[in-house]
Amino acid sequence: MPATVFIGLGSNLQDPVQQVLSAVEALKTLDHTHVDAISRLYETSPMGPQDQPNYINAVAKINTKLQPYDLLEKLHGIEAAHDRTRDTGRWGARTLDLDILLYADLVLTEPKLTLPHSGLHERAFVLYPLADIDDSLIIPTLGTVQQLIQQSGEPEPSIIEGKNLEIHPSVC
Ligand code: ATP
Ligand code: CA
Ligand code: CA
Repeated sequence: MPATVFIGLGSNLQDPVQQVLSAVEALKTLDHTHVDAISRLYETSPMGPQDQPNYINAVAKINTKLQPYDLLEKLHGIEAAHDRTRDTGRWGARTLDLDILLYADLVLTEPKLTLPHSGLHERAFVLYPLADIDDSLIIPTLGTVQQLIQQSGEPEPSIIEGKNLEIHPSVC
């Protein structure tokens, strides 16, 4: 039974827009997986260390038969193929970060895989792109995406215009 999954994409090194677009292409090549929709692209300030470039963020909605830990492993493979290193400290600069935001209505609290993603409710760069794709999305245990946007009090991040036409939801 395939699951609907939302993936958060982020990059702030080595042409971040291209990194995100390339990661979407890589998601399309995963076995038993279909990319259903992509949010707009956003430019956001870094979390944590401030001495790093702004991020480009987006969210992809996929339909997959991959099990959660198998999908996580595939995402780590895509990160590695985009030269992701883990030597820049917590929330340090990176070429590509792929997080599983939601996997169907699964709730997990393992360190290796926490679902919904532990930062989802407070991150504008996740909440606004999720709402792009599904304005009335329900986040298990937390409420609707619109409620979370209101509760976070975070303004909408800047939208990167003109970079996302070929991956608009209507053409996926
Ligand atoms: P954050 O998770 O706060 O966004 P980060 O993405 O920078 O921080 P990483 O270094 O990319 O953190 O990942 C650290 C670990 O988080 C991974 O090895 C992974 O096993 C674990 N993890 C837990 N839940 C998830 C999830 N929902 N999606 C992706 N990784 C997760
Ligand atoms: Ca992350
Ligand atoms: Ca991550």
